Amino acid sequence: MGRRLLLCLLLVVSVKCRTIYVEDARPTEEEVSFMKRYGYLPEVAEGSTSLDFSYTPLSITEAVRRLQAFAGLTPSGVIDSDTKQLFKKKRCGVKDIITTSSRSRRYVTREAWTKKDITYRVLNGSRTLEKHRVEGQMAAALAVWAPHAGLTFTRLDSGKADIEVSFVTLDHGDGSPFDGPGQVVAHAFCPPLGDLHFDDDEVWSEYPADDEENEESTDFFAAAVHEIGHALGLAHSDVRESVMYPYYRARVQSLYEDDILGMRALYMKDQQAATSALTVQTENPMAPRFSLDPGVTDEEDVPDLCYTNFDTIQVLQGKIYVFEEEWMWVLSERKEIDPGYPKRFHDVFIGLPEHVDVVRTIYEKRNGNIVIFKDKQYWEFGPNFSLIKRGRLRDYRLPGRLRELTTVFLSNYNNKTYLIDSERFWRFNEDTWTMDKGYPKSMSAWRDLPYPVDSAIIWKGNTYFFRGPRFWRFDNAQIRAHPYYPLFTAQIWFPCQPTPDMERYTKNED
Ligand SMILES: [Zn+2]
Ligand SMILES: [Zn+2]
Repeated sequence: MGRRLLLCLLLVVSVKCRTIYVEDARPTEEEVSFMKRYGYLPEVAEGSTSLDFSYTPLSITEAVRRLQAFAGLTPSGVIDSDTKQLFKKKRCGVKDIITTSSRSRRYVTREAWTKKDITYRVLNGSRTLEKHRVEGQMAAALAVWAPHAGLTFTRLDSGKADIEVSFVTLDHGDGSPFDGPGQVVAHAFCPPLGDLHFDDDEVWSEYPADDEENEESTDFFAAAVHEIGHALGLAHSDVRESVMYPYYRARVQSLYEDDILGMRALYMKDQQAATSALTVQTENPMAPRFSLDPGVTDEEDVPDLCYTNFDTIQVLQGKIYVFEEEWMWVLSERKEIDPGYPKRFHDVFIGLPEHVDVVRTIYEKRNGNIVIFKDKQYWEFGPNFSLIKRGRLRDYRLPGRLRELTTVFLSNYNNKTYLIDSERFWRFNEDTWTMDKGYPKSMSAWRDLPYPVDSAIIWKGNTYFFRGPRFWRFDNAQIRAHPYYPLFTAQIWFPCQPTPDMERYTKNED
């Protein structure tokens, strides 16, 4: 492709004119080319990689200071160990700073799409991430930006799209070759080009590594959210919490104020930003995306709700959701399965990583968001089922050694969130985001209930607990299960006729 692409180059930092001469810590050739590449040192003769004589100690020191300031380090001008690490970190290949050849002039370029409906296309998968998984993660990553830009994103499977996503290696024809494993992991182009390139010499994964410093894998979602920022016209930010900070961080999953303000400046200058953001959110066509073939319920591998122990049951948006293996059912009322179900929950919860192969712990927050827990992590979805945030159990003020939660529910009795592991429960206040004092307590405090429980729900004002094939109704005032329980779940909640088979099954399943 012969087009000459210019990487998205914007933003300027101010430079204070103080001089510190550094004689002992002169940068290496690689460090000089790094500072040239990202705009901290002016370019010299094209193709030159050697330490050019035209760089005075002063210009080097100033470049180091700019680099440090942008990264949030103390701008000492001295290449200390923290600064050395910056040169080695995984990062985006887009320039941090652009200056024109005339040193007195600096441009702040702002480019935006001039239309509201943007198309995108994933051209290939990576060595480690199949194309359809990349598409799911892209949908989730675009949905993070969409409400703040007032844009809609439509996926194309063929033809030319506005934003094209590909995995490539080394020199791939756009004048900005990748560098093998590590360091540069991706780059992207401003509107009206908009393409996203990911370095296929990285090990791309669908979830952040447990250890942030773990260099093994690179989280595609985190990188995609950042690169989409470029494709929508944003430059790098020197705000460390910002998604547009140039160095890769797996844990930053939601936009920061700085990112949102950038989007609004580009796309929503003339609008009541908050109002239109809300409108776009609810009209977002990204999710839920139901792509299942209609005939799927005839497949033999779909479990029969009447003859299986489901993984969990929860009430979301006023409906009953049942999860079993990779499937989910939605019931509007007891015994009434909504048309089109079961579906695979991965086709509904867009952006949920593939390694989450069962849903055992899920609940609806007070703000309407839906949270799925697995092990020490959770994924939070907006009311439209698109991923907006990820986090860890300790974000809920839970002890770091806690391995997993079995059940989470929001009580209508006191508007508190109950977080349950196998034998203990915690009570959490979502308004103040604090744990109530005196917790955890033993599950034995809830008399006549078994534990561990599989799930707990609020349905038409009552609290129900589920375990195995049975369920209990809980009396919140008496703090004990209602005496007429347990009853059999399938016969009461699902459209199942009591049969001799079921009778035998449920009896054996205690
Ligand atoms: Zn970038
Ligand atoms: Zn490229």
